[in-house]
Amino acid sequence: MPRPIQATIHPAALRANLERARRAAPDARLWAVVKANAYGHGIERVWSAVRAADGIALLDLDEAERVRALGWRGPLLLLEGVFEPRDLELCSRLSLWHTVHCDAQIDWLSAHKTHAPHRVFLKMNSGMNRLGFAPGRFRAAFARLSALPQVDEISLMTHFSDADGPRGISHQLAAFQGATEDLPGERSICNSAALLRHGLQAEVRLDWVRAGIALYGGAPDHPERTAGDWGLQPAMTLASRLIGVQQLGEGDTVGYGSRFAAPAPMRIGVVACGYADGYPRHAPTGTPVLVDGVRTRVVGRVSMDMLAVDLAPVPGAAIGSEVTLWGRGPGGAVLPIDEVAEAAGTIGYELMCALAPRVPVVTD
Ligand code: PLP
Repeated sequence: MPRPIQATIHPAALRANLERARRAAPDARLWAVVKANAYGHGIERVWSAVRAADGIALLDLDEAERVRALGWRGPLLLLEGVFEPRDLELCSRLSLWHTVHCDAQIDWLSAHKTHAPHRVFLKMNSGMNRLGFAPGRFRAAFARLSALPQVDEISLMTHFSDADGPRGISHQLAAFQGATEDLPGERSICNSAALLRHGLQAEVRLDWVRAGIALYGGAPDHPERTAGDWGLQPAMTLASRLIGVQQLGEGDTVGYGSRFAAPAPMRIGVVACGYADGYPRHAPTGTPVLVDGVRTRVVGRVSMDMLAVDLAPVPGAAIGSEVTLWGRGPGGAVLPIDEVAEAAGTIGYELMCALAPRVPVVTD
């Protein structure tokens, strides 16, 4: 018998989330962001749902090849552009659209001998200070690109740093609008947080929105709004089973470091899931978990292959009982991945991406 841990991907939820993203930014075209192997879900596993998008956005050329191999003939965008000049050849061959965020990428394009001109997204650094041309240098970059015979269409983009937080998007939106006012080309600025919060405004949703976490059923701005508040459904469930049960006396401790001591006699369950499966080691005592669909908590330190849970709320639990680490539990119960992430001091994005290769994954 294999270890009882398993992840399940829910294409119907992905489809519903994609439609939810479309309703949030009506009339905009939608990039489905499938970088990092579809945020850990697996590009091929989400494909039946995300192929309903208008474009596919990702980072790696090998992932772009996988998407073309799935039969996708539509827009396919490299969000960070190329990493070295020879990547341009593959861009041509795969008909990729690619981001241009620095002068070196323009130099590489100008030296590239291409049979098919490239469509590029010129990226502005409007305040994130990660990739892109500063607003004051944006027009010069646009002019350089416009002069290249290798480029036949230039679109404009930026990325928000605080669309999910109190600082918001207004300062970056103003920078983008100011520097692009009279430039031609399609525009794309919204990630999930921006499209969910502001997509009804035409001047924010613009031509293309780029939805990542919303498709996978995570709330970009948890805990201010939950995925349920946004009408999003979990696209991944991580489930396991109890493989041990222990009766603790008062003062007995659990796991490495003896971090949890029973305040009174209690039963705990031992779950076949640990940090080698992608469960966060930093999840403290109190992190939510479902046993047989009933909400309870992790107790003690998460170890490599196991973690322990408090069975007080589930007196009938026994070896074999179903444990939901995140996602959908039995009886319609749901444990949002964002709640587990919050308890562990991280975000749902990281937990999805960290699902370990040893965990078997199925699609329902
Ligand atoms: N656009 C760019 C340039 C990104 O890097 C990302 C993800 O980090 C996204 C869009 C999608 O963001 P989210 O998953 O928050 O929707």
